[in-house]
Order: sequence, then C-alpha cells, then structure tokens
Amino acid sequence: MARYTDSVCRLCRREGEKLFLKGYRCYTPKCSFEKRPYPPGMHGKMFAARPARQSDYGKQLRAKQKARRVYGIYERQFRRFYSQAVAMRGQTGSNLLAILETRLANVVYRLGFASSRPQARILVSHGHFLVNGRRADVPSIGIDVDDVISVKESSKGNAYFKHLREEAEGRTVPTWLARDLSNLTGRMLRAPERSEIDGNLEEQLIVEYYSR
Ligand code: SF4
Repeated sequence: MARYTDSVCRLCRREGEKLFLKGYRCYTPKCSFEKRPYPPGMHGKMFAARPARQSDYGKQLRAKQKARRVYGIYERQFRRFYSQAVAMRGQTGSNLLAILETRLANVVYRLGFASSRPQARILVSHGHFLVNGRRADVPSIGIDVDDVISVKESSKGNAYFKHLREEAEGRTVPTWLARDLSNLTGRMLRAPERSEIDGNLEEQLIVEYYSR
C-alpha cells in the first residue's frame, strides 16, 4: 500500500486550512500554514490569488480527502469504513464520522495521551496501549462503549509517559470519554454525537462522492 512520506504540512496547505497533524508545532508561528497559507507547489501562490471555480465533484473529492487526511487513513481502508457506515442504521455520513472517531488511535488522541493523531497512531502501533487489559497495537480497531484504554504498565517508565500526566492536564477530553490521568487510563462512556466531532468535516459531500 502506498505510504505518504512527504511533509504533512503540505496537506494542510493543500486543503486550505490547518489540520493539526504536528502537535505543538501547529500552535506556534513555525506552522507552515501560518507562514505560507497557499497551496504547495510552484504555482500555489498564483492559484491562491485566482482560485478556480470548483465543480461539485471537486468539492466532494476535497471533502473526502480532508477527512482521510485529518484521520490519517488510506483510501482502501476509508472506503471500507464507508461500506460499514452504509450497512449501519441511521445516516451514513454520521455513521462514518462515528466510526472514524472511535478508532483506537483517535480515542488515544482525544484522551490527550498524544498531541496529534499521527503521534497517537505511532504510540499505538508500538504497542504502548491495552484495550480491556489486552495488548492492542492496531490503530484502526474500533472502540466500543465501556471499553477501557490504558497505558501498558511497562511503558509507564518511558520518558514520554513519565511526563504525560503534566502535559495532558491542559488537554480537554470530550464528554463521551472519561479519563483517569493518575492511572493513565480512559473509558468510552457513550458513542460521540455529531456536534462533538470536528464541525469542519462535510460528511454529506463524502456520501455524495461515494454514491456517484
Ligand atoms: Fe498543519 Fe500543523 Fe503543519 Fe501547521 S504545523 S501546517 S497545522 S501540520
């Protein structure tokens, strides 16, 4: 499967907004989007000055690409999540966002155990987390209500996790999750509602993209 190896800041510049893929750096003046808020490439500045009118297909494609980039998911896997969302009861778009939001790596990020989704993904795949007491190193596994996510006991001695309690204190946790910072654990209390998921994602356009 093709792996994206270029600078993730280019993705923000391409989507025309900050996607917060680099943790603390995103909140500093070093943020590439702050310095160059136009698309990457030789003609990026020119496109920004004279933006082309976007077709309906273009808007749908951009909405889908943005969601993939925010959550760090490859096309094939994203399409699989979409098929799951179609098979579920309720609105496909909201189902899709709920599936994306309750993936293990995203829950780790939402609990404040990582400063960005890409970092959460790395921490999970390196085996630092347990789900209901069992090792879970697949970032995309789905978390269910009442599942408990914890930092592996042997990982708590790592420099990163030693400082995590102080660093995570300032990060707010959504109300569908509960966090116990002293024990470095978290629990999913209920499924997230649409209003609790990034408002900037346009799920209806994603559904239109895949329904063409
Ligand atoms: Fe995007 Fe963060 Fe890079 Fe800024 S620093 S361009 S928000 S990934």
